[in-house]
Amino acid sequence: MSNLIKILVMDDEQGIRDLLSYELGARGYMVITAANGEEGVKKIAADKFNIVISDIKMPKLDGLEALERIKSIAPETEVIMTTGFATIDTAIESMKKGAYDFVTKPYNLDELYSRIEKALEKQSLGLEVASLKELNRMKSEFLANMSHELRTPMNAIIGYGSLMLDKLYGELTEQQETALKRINSNANNLLQLINNILDISKLSAGKMPLYLEDFSLKELVEEVVDMMEALAREKHIFLTLENCADIELCSDKTRLKQILINLIGNAIKFTSQGGITFSMLLDSDAKQVMLSVKDTGIGIKPEHVNTIFEEFRQGDASTTREYGGTGLGLAIVKKLTELLGGTIQLESVRGQGSTFSLLLPVKIKLKEGGDAQTDDSIIASSFANANSEERQKTLLAIDDDPEVLKLLKDSLFDSEYKFVGALTGDEGISLAKQLRPFAITLDILMPHRDGWSIIQSLKSDPQTWGIPIIIVSIMENKPLGFSLGVSDYIVKPFERKALLERLHYLDALRDKKVLVVDDDEELNSFMQMLLRNDGYEVLSAYNGEQALEQIEKQKPDIVLLDLMMPLVDGFDVLEKIQMNPALEEVRVIIMTAKSLTKEEAGILHQRAELIIEKGSKSLKEILSVIKRRLSSVQEKA
Ligand code: ADP
Repeated sequence: MSNLIKILVMDDEQGIRDLLSYELGARGYMVITAANGEEGVKKIAADKFNIVISDIKMPKLDGLEALERIKSIAPETEVIMTTGFATIDTAIESMKKGAYDFVTKPYNLDELYSRIEKALEKQSLGLEVASLKELNRMKSEFLANMSHELRTPMNAIIGYGSLMLDKLYGELTEQQETALKRINSNANNLLQLINNILDISKLSAGKMPLYLEDFSLKELVEEVVDMMEALAREKHIFLTLENCADIELCSDKTRLKQILINLIGNAIKFTSQGGITFSMLLDSDAKQVMLSVKDTGIGIKPEHVNTIFEEFRQGDASTTREYGGTGLGLAIVKKLTELLGGTIQLESVRGQGSTFSLLLPVKIKLKEGGDAQTDDSIIASSFANANSEERQKTLLAIDDDPEVLKLLKDSLFDSEYKFVGALTGDEGISLAKQLRPFAITLDILMPHRDGWSIIQSLKSDPQTWGIPIIIVSIMENKPLGFSLGVSDYIVKPFERKALLERLHYLDALRDKKVLVVDDDEELNSFMQMLLRNDGYEVLSAYNGEQALEQIEKQKPDIVLLDLMMPLVDGFDVLEKIQMNPALEEVRVIIMTAKSLTKEEAGILHQRAELIIEKGSKSLKEILSVIKRRLSSVQEKA
């Protein structure tokens, strides 16, 4: 609103309108008048006013009705009601309907001015609060978007770095290896920081989803302690577990783990002698459990005991210089603890050590409308008993974002496919082994373990390596994906149609047999791997004789045939196929390194589906040509 303050006076008495126009005008306000409610509401709809002074008794539309309309059109406009027949009831009613105040006629003008001033003050405070809220919302949104944008390149850096460290691109010198390790460890730290910022912004915006399940606290704690032990050992301090009772918790396992890793991590970081004791205690009515992380480290000054839980707050500047860190860890811990219905306490003596104690409900109770995610159909364990026929049509989706899981699940609604979701890579891998789904969709950017390493695990385990993987990611890195054996890519945001098309395609391949015939062993096994990754059943032959034998016995749907082979060559194989009516359905794709004469090409074109010249294209290109061709062959079949 501009600096000029606009007041609308609504009154059916001409005298009052004139009086207020004159008096308020003299005080520097801009005054507009309306002779009844209807006229007033029209003016409010057409223009912005700071204040309305409205009579209650008016013809056409009375003051109370007008008030209601004004509040719905311009909620930020403050309304002061006036009447000559004031009763408590009308006063109460007008306040209920959103009036700021109530004055009785005849006016005491000074009183009216002071009400107007107060109303203006309230209005400007309200506007300030609203704009701060908006700013805060924008900040959270910005942080969330930014960290997402930052994670994308970070994951690429780490992904490629790991591939190089795994010597996928060749041997490394010692110096190169050291440098790469530095790059990766710094990139990981940066990613951790970005993830922390993302967590904080989600928590602050109340958008952190929870996944509740029953689990053994003892197992969880042992897992965390096992994980952290190496760190303690490096610093020659102890990490022990005390009073480890077997308690069944209903809570969010991943979040609790995150809290404990943070607390124990801090304890190790700030302790150089002695060690860390972890203990748990169930209260007498078994409703709450206390988890404590006690260290013998540097301790925390009393004046910092409360502030270190605030975002970006650390202890002394000197501590920060010595130990680094960003001051987000404990802020996340505190917010997560509260999200899990618990509280956190700190006792510390400078120079002697600190004890962080979590008090958590054994069974989390959610507030009405709480945003915990408990959609059973998304939680995978409920599918563990699916029978084998179901499994065949089951798609396993691995994504840390419940929204995406829900979206995928919804996309499959009414299709022939069943859906199982996993929120973490580890859960996904174990479900893949258990369920043997017919395909897996995978997100690349996930906090604890990224998609690349999940692909590697899946592709290196004989139980899962044949399951086609479709990457569903905001990050487009097809070359890396395909080099790791991924079947397909869908870029988020994806469309249901695209997803179903991919699935149908993979599904159609499932019982298609492809025979790869090539005497070049390396090429042959490479082709086999790529085709298998796509879901085909793959056979192989290394010469024409073997090929004919396989073709007759196994009746493959498609034969990828090399022309130049010793003894029985591709031409011979092709001819035999042609002559045998039982093999009419077999489709042949010729791969040749030989440049063909016009005549040869003519013959082959009549008999084969497609001819590819090996020397002319890279292997990947050849494969994509073959894949494209195969899908059209399937459609025809
Ligand atoms: P960061 O460690 O990244 O700075 P945190 O929020 O985890 O952020 O911790 C905030 C500060 O609290 C630390 O900088 C440190 O000064 C203090 N602090 C946390 N845990 C301990 C501990 N176990 N012993 C001593 N000081 C601690």
